[in-house]
Amino acid sequence: MNKISRDDLTQRIVSALGPAGVIADEGAMAPYLEEWRRMSHGARARLIARPASTEQVAEVVRICAEAGAEIVPQGGNTGLCLGAQPDESGRQVILNLGRMNRVRAIDPVNFTMTVDAGAVLQTIQERADEAGCFFPLSLGAQGSCQIGGNISTNAGGVGVLRYGSTRALVLGLEVVLPDGTVWDGLKSLGKDNTGYDLKHLFIGAEGTLGIVTAAVLKLFPKPSDVQTAFCALADLDSALRLLARARAWTGDQVAAFELLCRPAIDVCLAQLPNIVDPLPRPSDWYVLMDLSTSRPGGSMRETMEELLAAALEAGEITDATIADSIDKANALWRIREELPEAVRAAGDDLHHDVSVPVADVPAFIRRTQKKLAEVAPGVRTMPFGHVGDGNIHFTLLGPEGPGPKTLKSQEDRMAHLIFDIAVDMRGSFSAEHGVGRLKLDDMARYKRPVEIDLMRRLKRAIDPRDTMNPGKVVRRTNA
Ligand SMILES: Cc1cc2nc3c(=O)[nH]c(=O)nc-3n(C[C@H](O)[C@H](O)[C@H](O)COP(=O)(O)OP(=O)(O)OC[C@H]3O[C@@H](n4cnc5c(N)ncnc54)[C@H](O)[C@@H]3O)c2cc1C
Repeated sequence: MNKISRDDLTQRIVSALGPAGVIADEGAMAPYLEEWRRMSHGARARLIARPASTEQVAEVVRICAEAGAEIVPQGGNTGLCLGAQPDESGRQVILNLGRMNRVRAIDPVNFTMTVDAGAVLQTIQERADEAGCFFPLSLGAQGSCQIGGNISTNAGGVGVLRYGSTRALVLGLEVVLPDGTVWDGLKSLGKDNTGYDLKHLFIGAEGTLGIVTAAVLKLFPKPSDVQTAFCALADLDSALRLLARARAWTGDQVAAFELLCRPAIDVCLAQLPNIVDPLPRPSDWYVLMDLSTSRPGGSMRETMEELLAAALEAGEITDATIADSIDKANALWRIREELPEAVRAAGDDLHHDVSVPVADVPAFIRRTQKKLAEVAPGVRTMPFGHVGDGNIHFTLLGPEGPGPKTLKSQEDRMAHLIFDIAVDMRGSFSAEHGVGRLKLDDMARYKRPVEIDLMRRLKRAIDPRDTMNPGKVVRRTNA
């Protein structure tokens, strides 16, 4: 029996947070309901709660628990899987962490930083830099996404090859559980073998087990030199040969290793202003690579030159350019980072973010391209991404020319075709962005029954009333 009526809910939350902490006006709520790709048709919310402290988060969660109200945790709203959007009922409460944006402490000796969950990723990077340290999580949405969202989606990005995904960068967490209890796990220990490592339950849980309110993050020595090169590959298989060579040659100082294909360069040239083709002759495949060192006064320039000369001699690359200034490095990285925007601007596009074992990336790309050519002739394929992590953004564009734009109407068919092949190769249908509501059916299709069962049992144990982001990652427990 709920102790608070739904009508009293708004008033109780306003009393707990003050008027500045609640948005209940339809117009003002609209930006919180929409998402980056404008896919959240019909999402409605009872209100947006914007607490300013862990105690306030706990208070809102307790009030909602008493009212039996469902909560949707929300960070920067860049998640791309409808995880931070409410359903269409208009009864769910969005709990947005945006006001909890403090860096609580930085310890350059321990190489740790303690932050509120609502701190924006780019702010965290800048504060680490000011303290002479480095926080390596880096992704296209870093100006908007929050660390709580990064933790809840176990975000990846371009630094995973060297530093690991978000899971590897978190030492401790503070979490408000679905009944309002606060778990203070804000430890900064490198070693702690005392039973189940509870923080890992909440990392990648997409807000279904509780609300992350703060974290202790791992920092690293600041890079003193980063060298960026753009290489034309002899063929697709050469990407892996070059990666292995670069890792061995540099003693694992490869900071980023991104695969690009010619259609990706062409779409950037066509859709983005001031993009220059980095090399004079076109090639089917390219790699954008960063080498970095944190040794004071160290330089990777000579290492990069020697590495590329050896790769040229071995026939792995046919040409390359090394950026000789930060501006030139940024210009090369713009192609990779703004590629999703360019594809969106081109229109009639579908995106798939899959992973396979690194060694199988070329075989996966070829197999998928062959299958697509058979069943969807004319559809253009644009595989690119974090090849060093086995993570490929397998993007499709509709046929060239003025014909009807019908690719989006085949979304499920195309996704299943690509996911079937990835999973058949012991890969994953979602390498980076999570599951949210968007990929719930894919969980049923691709996860083993024992995996689904374990997840549902965990969900029931921690959130028995299924009020914490219900219907995301696992089906509603009462469904
Ligand atoms: C241009 C662009 C580029 C991107 N590039 C990458 C990339 O390279 N790698 C990558 O991994 N992702 C990428 N993403 C996806 C996205 O940025 C990440 O998933 C990011 O981690 C989401 O953070 P957010 O704060 O926006 O979370 P939101 O979108 O607000 O939420 C995501 C999920 O986490 C939950 N959540 C949010 N905050 C909390 C919290 N404090 N406690 C509990 N649950 C919470 C939400 O309920 C939701 O389920 C990209 C997105 C865009 C738009």
